[in-house]
This record gives sequence, structure tokens and C-alpha cells, in this order.
Amino acid sequence: MHPRFTFAERLHAVRSRIAAACARAHRAEASVTLLAVTKVFPASIVEEAYASGLREFGENYVQEFEDKRAQLPACPEAVFHLIGHLQSNKASKAADLFQVIQTVDTSKLARRLNEAVNDLEVMIEVKLGDEPSKHGCAPDDLPALIESVRTCPNLRLTGLMTIPPWDDDPEKSRSYFARLQRLAQTHGVERISMGMSNDLEAAIEEGSTIVRVGTALFGPRKRP
Ligand SMILES: *Cc1c(COP(=O)(O)O)cnc(C)c1O
Repeated sequence: MHPRFTFAERLHAVRSRIAAACARAHRAEASVTLLAVTKVFPASIVEEAYASGLREFGENYVQEFEDKRAQLPACPEAVFHLIGHLQSNKASKAADLFQVIQTVDTSKLARRLNEAVNDLEVMIEVKLGDEPSKHGCAPDDLPALIESVRTCPNLRLTGLMTIPPWDDDPEKSRSYFARLQRLAQTHGVERISMGMSNDLEAAIEEGSTIVRVGTALFGPRKRP
């Protein structure tokens, strides 16, 4: 946690940024979900955020969250999203722990999730940049993957997510955001997960419905 600001002050600042971007884009504030990204931070931070009214949380690592979940009090209204890469051999565990999996990127993973649950909300991660190390479905493969997720009776496909190539300049993300918005529209999915601490304004202006915010709420992270 940044020593100079309390969590309440940081949350207020993030909410103000979201409100200002929504106003510029003529959108209702309620159309944007603030997903608090708590990876690497302890259960006590999730508890504090929950006590401050946040209800949606993003975690990147199945094992880390399994341990954290065991330390958390009930948090009955919390919704936990997996936003990190998921290997298909961990699909069953992830399906038990998370209410939303944002990072489906292969039909094999979709099949594994479908076998593990009765009803699970999923989103497809789309890789719009060309960095070799990033996960996600290539735009050319998206129609086929959407088709195969939609044939899984236990999965509800609600949206797309993306992580643009990192750049200090948030304007560099804008064309990726616009592209994801068009893909979501083309394929008839409602939720669009894009925008992080650095570029949430551009994401909201381009149609984001879920901004995933870590650093701006909780301060810098140590590497896991
Ligand atoms: C860590 C992470 C975030 C949060 O990034 P910040 O820059 O700290 O806001 C958002 N999305 C994904 C997929 C992440 O891994």
C-alpha cells in the first residue's frame, strides 16, 4: 500500500477517474465494473477492499488464490475472476475457485472447464498484439473458438478480454481497445474486459465494461 494515501483515498481517486471517463464518453457509470486486481497481495487486502464496498476481484494464479481463499472470511457477495493464464490441467480447480474465468484461449481449455462444472461464466482472452510471450486467442482463430465455447452446455460466454502490449503512453492502447470492442460487437457478447491502472480512461472511452485495476488501488506489487 502506498504510504502517502489510504486505501479509501485511492479508491476514491480511481472511482473519480472512471466517472470522468464515463462522462466524456456519455456513458453511465454503472456500465463499467471496477475489478480490483489483488494478485500478490494478502487476504487482508481483499478483506479491506470488500469492507470498502468492492465486490469484484481479479486474481492471476490458481494456487495463490486457493491459499488466499482459505484465509478469507465469507465475503458472500464477492465475485472472483481469474484473469491470469490457465493451463487446462488446472481447469477443474479453477472452476471450483472462481465465478468467472476471463482467460479462455483454447477449445481444449473450454472442454476441460465444461467437464468440471454445471454453470460457469467465461470470457475469451484475445491476443491483439504480436508479442510472442503473451497468451490469448489470435483474432483469426476467434470465430472458431467462440463457436466451440458456445457448444459447451455448462459454459456461459459473456465477453472478451485483452491485454494490449505494455506502453507508458495510454494512448498507444487505444487502437487495441477499439478493435476488441468491434470484435465483441461482431460476435454479440456484452462484456468487454480491458483497461488497467495506466490506461483505464482510454479503455472506457472505447467501450470497456470491466476495468481491471491493481496498482492504482493497492500500490506497486512485488514480483511473485
Ligand atoms: C496485474 C494485472 C492487471 C492490473 O494491472 P495494474 O497495472 O496493476 O492495474 C490487470 N489485468 C491483468 C490481466 C493483470 O495481470
